Amino acid sequence: MIITRELIEKLPKTDLHLHLDGSVRIETLIELAKDSSVELPSYTVEGLKEIVFKDSYKDLDDYLKGFGYTCAVMRTEENIERISYELALDNQKEGVRYIEVRYAPQLHAGRKMTMLDTIKAVNNGLSRAKREFNSREAVISGAEPPFEYGIIACAMRYFNKYFSDYFDDMISVHSYSEEDKIFGLASLEVVGAAVKARREMGLPVVGVDLAGPEKGNPPIHHREAYMLAQRNFLNKTVHAGEAYGPESIFQAITELGAGRIGHGTSLFKSETITDSSILDRDMYVNDLVQFIADRRITIEVCLTSNMQTDPQLLRLEDHPFRRMLENKLSCSICTDNRTVSHTTVTDEVFKAVQAFDLSLSEVKTLMVYGFKRSFFPHAYRDKRAYVRQCMNYFEKIVNGSI
Ligand SMILES: [Zn+2]
Repeated sequence: MIITRELIEKLPKTDLHLHLDGSVRIETLIELAKDSSVELPSYTVEGLKEIVFKDSYKDLDDYLKGFGYTCAVMRTEENIERISYELALDNQKEGVRYIEVRYAPQLHAGRKMTMLDTIKAVNNGLSRAKREFNSREAVISGAEPPFEYGIIACAMRYFNKYFSDYFDDMISVHSYSEEDKIFGLASLEVVGAAVKARREMGLPVVGVDLAGPEKGNPPIHHREAYMLAQRNFLNKTVHAGEAYGPESIFQAITELGAGRIGHGTSLFKSETITDSSILDRDMYVNDLVQFIADRRITIEVCLTSNMQTDPQLLRLEDHPFRRMLENKLSCSICTDNRTVSHTTVTDEVFKAVQAFDLSLSEVKTLMVYGFKRSFFPHAYRDKRAYVRQCMNYFEKIVNGSI
């Protein structure tokens, strides 16, 4: 069977690694920037695509520029709610049934808006889109699986006072503390807010994440925060192995207890190991790969984003995704940033099919991992029923009965 883009678009899909601030519609960014007097380098979609949200980037710094503009318009509850709502609609439109939206509450919170206010705003937008989608007859009758979502709160490996008012305040009231301690303390606060949102307010905050530059900012600073998440049954994912070697992935798992890994691109790069106590680097990588495989620690694979930020990756065919599949790792295809990476889930899956010559059964396995390894916010029994419903729907589409 030929796997076309049209077929992929119809299939029930997930996106487990999806940044809210990297996925703002460009039209919306322009409109909100005009309303709130945020300066943009262009006020047309074409102009911004040429200058900011490009097809390819020089490096990670170039890639990150767009976030400054999107974050600048995400400083009110109203705007955050709208952006979240539109993100859910864009996913629904291309057949994505389950999303986990992640963002760093401290990048948006300030003197007028608390972290919890931002979480409520994100939830308001997503829940409105969910309600609308699930009130359609096709979903009510059970003919189609419903749309579901979870929210992931990101802590930051690094920040400075220019990142947001919140971080500015955080740094100034801890002027005599070491930087690393402040990073850890900020993470503890994010997790505290996530726990409160989940446990006291019943909001679907399903997990925590750690984002930001890996090199020089090891996970150990955030251990206390991750243990707080663990004690409160929040799930844990970590951006690791995106810009730093396999040790970064090792630390995310051993220091923070990550159940999923964002990117993991450098998993097989034994030559980049710097820890001199590791004598047999190949054995270290092999042990790590086997551990990840055996525990079903899922890699959130973001192909386009990796191509755009890793200057060494020249051809998609050379992406380690192939080796991840060969080693039977649990992988899920994700977008990372729909706007900044100029992509959709359909595009990402189609790219994977073409570059790695995936069979339909391999595509199905990837989809199953997406649903199964999600941090689904409801009861496990309901999760199983939902996964089954989505995969039955997958079969019906493939068999041509829909
Ligand atoms: Zn990411």
